[in-house]
Amino acid sequence: MRTPIVIANWKMNGSLAANANLISQLKQQLVGRRVATVVICPPAPYLTQVEQLIESSNIQLGAQNASEYSAGAYTGEVSLKMLQEFGVQYVIIGHSERRVIFKETDQQVAEKCKSVVASGLIPVICIGESLEERQQGNAQAVIKKQLQALSLGDLSGPFIIAYEPIWAIGTGETATPEQAQEMHEFIRTQLRELIAEQADSIKVLYGGSVKSDNAGQLFAMPDIDGGLVGGASLQAEEFFAICRAA
Ligand code: PGA
Repeated sequence: MRTPIVIANWKMNGSLAANANLISQLKQQLVGRRVATVVICPPAPYLTQVEQLIESSNIQLGAQNASEYSAGAYTGEVSLKMLQEFGVQYVIIGHSERRVIFKETDQQVAEKCKSVVASGLIPVICIGESLEERQQGNAQAVIKKQLQALSLGDLSGPFIIAYEPIWAIGTGETATPEQAQEMHEFIRTQLRELIAEQADSIKVLYGGSVKSDNAGQLFAMPDIDGGLVGGASLQAEEFFAICRAA
């Protein structure tokens, strides 16, 4: 019922040459192969390049962030309308790096989600606990609070949740498939409370050091519907193997 999806989060990596090389390799591998839905989220300046590179392929385009405002005096920000002009369909919202480094609040994340959905795009909403919160036994409470703050019941269109435990992001330390499944099941239960029967159609992705050698086991879990992949999405073969596992 929930078709798997794998989303590449390039973060602040790439160059015109590296992107062209990566996408051309990926396209060669994907051609004629049935894999999960594949989405690439490059840095904003490369959206137009990647839009052209993925033309006539099944790869879809996403952005890593967007402004909650529609236009005007917001130096350095990128609006949803601008993203749409480049064929963007998905927007990562509330990544822990945005929340921690750029101090995005729960409220701002909620507002961004609302704007993304209102524009007809799909937010990939990131939630996750820190190592300290997990060690103190507060992981579920943190996730519950982050989900509640999103006012999901008010969203008038589809969205995706990405569970990314902060301690697993870019550290090489992945949640075990059982740890991830336990939290995904908890998230699904919370979603049922927040948006009733609609909850069962919401994709919940896992993110945090997903690699070709752990993707299969993670994606085999009943409540894990794919992945949000950082580091491993920068290598065509590695990323393709992850897409195949989903
Ligand atoms: P990682 O990043 O795969 O490099 O751990 C995942 C993410 O931050 O989305």
